[in-house]
Amino acid sequence: MNQLMLIGGQRVPASAGRTLPATDPFRGTEIARVPDASPADVADAVAAARAAFDGGWSTTPGVRRAELLHRLADLLVERAGDFARLETSDNGKLLRETSNQARFAARNYRFFAGYADKLYGRTIPLDSPDTLDYTTAEPIGVAALITAWNSPMQLLANKLAPALAAGNCVVIKPSEHASLTTLAMADLVEEAGFPPGVVNIVTGGADAGQALSGHPGLDRISFTGSVPTGQAIATAAAKNLVPVTLELGGKSPNIVFADADLDRAVIGAVAGIFAAGGQTCIAGSRLLVQDSVYDKVVAAVAERARAIRLGDPMLEPTQLGPVANRPQFDRIRRAVTNGADGGAVALTGLEPLADPELGAGLFVRPTVFAEVDNASPLAREEIFGPVLSAIRFSDEDEAVAIANDSEFGLASGVWTNDLTRAHRVARRIVAGTVWVNTYRSSAAQAPFGGTKKSGYGRERGAEALSEYLTTKNVMIDLSGTSGDPFSIRT
Ligand code: NAD
Repeated sequence: MNQLMLIGGQRVPASAGRTLPATDPFRGTEIARVPDASPADVADAVAAARAAFDGGWSTTPGVRRAELLHRLADLLVERAGDFARLETSDNGKLLRETSNQARFAARNYRFFAGYADKLYGRTIPLDSPDTLDYTTAEPIGVAALITAWNSPMQLLANKLAPALAAGNCVVIKPSEHASLTTLAMADLVEEAGFPPGVVNIVTGGADAGQALSGHPGLDRISFTGSVPTGQAIATAAAKNLVPVTLELGGKSPNIVFADADLDRAVIGAVAGIFAAGGQTCIAGSRLLVQDSVYDKVVAAVAERARAIRLGDPMLEPTQLGPVANRPQFDRIRRAVTNGADGGAVALTGLEPLADPELGAGLFVRPTVFAEVDNASPLAREEIFGPVLSAIRFSDEDEAVAIANDSEFGLASGVWTNDLTRAHRVARRIVAGTVWVNTYRSSAAQAPFGGTKKSGYGRERGAEALSEYLTTKNVMIDLSGTSGDPFSIRT
């Protein structure tokens, strides 16, 4: 079925009539066609957002914005099942995961709804008692929100919720590999009652993304995706001096100390890399294990990996669905082949797949490489698939050194029962998130983002709002006098 974009409150095809396929990665079938926006379509969307911003949205009271966001959350919860099934058929994620993501996305809309009528400035006492100084927190204007294919509902909520709460208008561009739930949000946005043009949705691939990120009419870009695309977007944005939030990749260390509850740590390692088929930016793809328990822990993780049930992501018993799209599948296969050729010991994952029930699905077996050198590509490059690199360390200093020896700094895990060690290591790890005795936990209240090549800026939590607000300072003379015009007044 041909999908339509949302521009200025209208459902429109791409003006040049071009479309791209949406493919079910389990069945290998085309399930819809999405518009491939031209630069003119993108420009229309930016103009519509600007018109809506200037036409009243920026001065809409916070309490009204909050109502609309709560309504959006209500609708998403009501239709969570439909959204989850649509997502699973589009990107192959397990239905149980996409169901949770729909609800978690709704939780984020609610969390930021709570801020919409509480965006206060400050009154600032100055040196001179004859001056009243205050600030206001104002929306920045038009924001472009560009997302990746792995968790479209959640990635969108991370951006859209604070952007709207703060009073901005947006142009959204989801990934060409998974656009359907974002396009379906057009119905909810309309039903919730957002005025036309506040939320615009364009679809397409890199060309549409380039047209959007290079558009001079933006006031902010928030991007989630790969490092090379993040670099291209930051470069394009710099030409227009548009500020950017970048949520990029990771190669996150999941560190198991010998004093940890090892059974829990093994489950945490499995959750870190095999949940969602490793197609998460926060994947704990480097498992660092202390020497004395290394063999035991890594063997247990490999055993669990072997037992993971591959299959139809729509079915309850399935634990690992297909890779979301062909280019990603090819990338993962290359990384696995190169890893095996590079001297690491493959404990599991290389056996051929011969299950006829997997049909046309793009499946990669859960793969565990042991004795991985942290300098090797297996440990340095983001694979974005179910591929774990297990690395040995001897003591805390070495664990921290290996963990930080990466160009990424997104997430990390620490497994220990020693309270002081937990805090010490959390303090020393260079990453936006440190989990202790858990992995892959998220909360609307907890800020999320990266350091180093994992990007900059924060999503979720109070921190996310500041990405979509600008501060105005107002200074009012109360003295009624004029000073020396040739000297600064303080
Ligand atoms: P990608 O960079 O290929 O694409 C992301 C988005 O950018 C898509 O919408 C795409 O169409 C668009 N795009 C592509 N080229 C563009 C260009 N030149 N200019 C503007 N837009 C362009 O990433 P992907 O393959 O969709 O996603 C996987 C990556 O996303 C992984 O690296 C993963 O770690 C990262 N990711 C990060 C987070 C996070 O929060 N840090 C979350 C999820 C995924």
